[in-house]
Amino acid sequence: MADNGKIALVTGGARGIGLEICRELLAAGMTVVVADIQEKLFDQTRQALGKADLDCRKLDVTDSVAFTALVDAVVEQYGRLDVLVNNAGITRDGLLLRMDDGDWDLVLRVNLYSAFYGTRAASKHMVRQKSGSIINMASYSGIEGNRGQANYSASKAGMIGLTKTTAKELAGKNIRCNAVAPGFIATEMTAVLPQQAKDIALSLIPLKTMGQPQDVARAVRFLACDDSAYITGQVLSVDGGMHT
Ligand code: NAD
Repeated sequence: MADNGKIALVTGGARGIGLEICRELLAAGMTVVVADIQEKLFDQTRQALGKADLDCRKLDVTDSVAFTALVDAVVEQYGRLDVLVNNAGITRDGLLLRMDDGDWDLVLRVNLYSAFYGTRAASKHMVRQKSGSIINMASYSGIEGNRGQANYSASKAGMIGLTKTTAKELAGKNIRCNAVAPGFIATEMTAVLPQQAKDIALSLIPLKTMGQPQDVARAVRFLACDDSAYITGQVLSVDGGMHT
């Protein structure tokens, strides 16, 4: 089927990279459902996208039962699910020696466990449809590691393993699964970093500038659309040349 009319679910779509992903998928002609824990952002999200009737649903992606129920409800309402973007993510940075169990668990649950819950729930329907595209939000930190991000980099490396296995298991059903690995992108997640950390990050980027959410969103759009029909199991870096 053409991309026009596809049904897409974007987690963490209320702001930042997720919001720009919604914008790109809407521009591709898809119907987009946003799933995000921050219900209070939804009016702002709809306004930013100029779409008053955007379907926004409250979801804590760490809740396996709720995530599965939401995916089933979307399929019940729209008849199918063509694209799942596992984008919701958080950081709880700290050096390994001082990282407590709570920060380790939370980051793994929000960033990685959630993608498993969503992928399992969505692929059940995609198998029946014999088509689908799943995109997981990884990170440069998951490829290279990053001081102060033991939990985050482990979650994102796990995301890459999940992506490759999903791709291999589901390719026979015409379901593709790819990851995008952003580098240092200007969002609220990175805005809170101390200036020194920002300077260090900038000095590592060959293209000498932070990425914009739209840079990542365009890569997601490519992987969501039929233009990438023969691409699965890949990790597409969007990082200004940091990882080569
Ligand atoms: P952000 O904090 O601006 O947005 C994250 C969104 O996820 C928010 O809307 C938030 O409400 C939602 N969210 C958080 N926890 C949730 C939960 N439990 N359930 C549902 N929704 C939840 O961050 P961002 O920079 O837009 O990051 C988006 C993704 O990109 C994340 O997976 C992040 O790890 C990844 N990433 C970002 C960067 C960067 O430099 N900004 C770099 C690499 C990867």
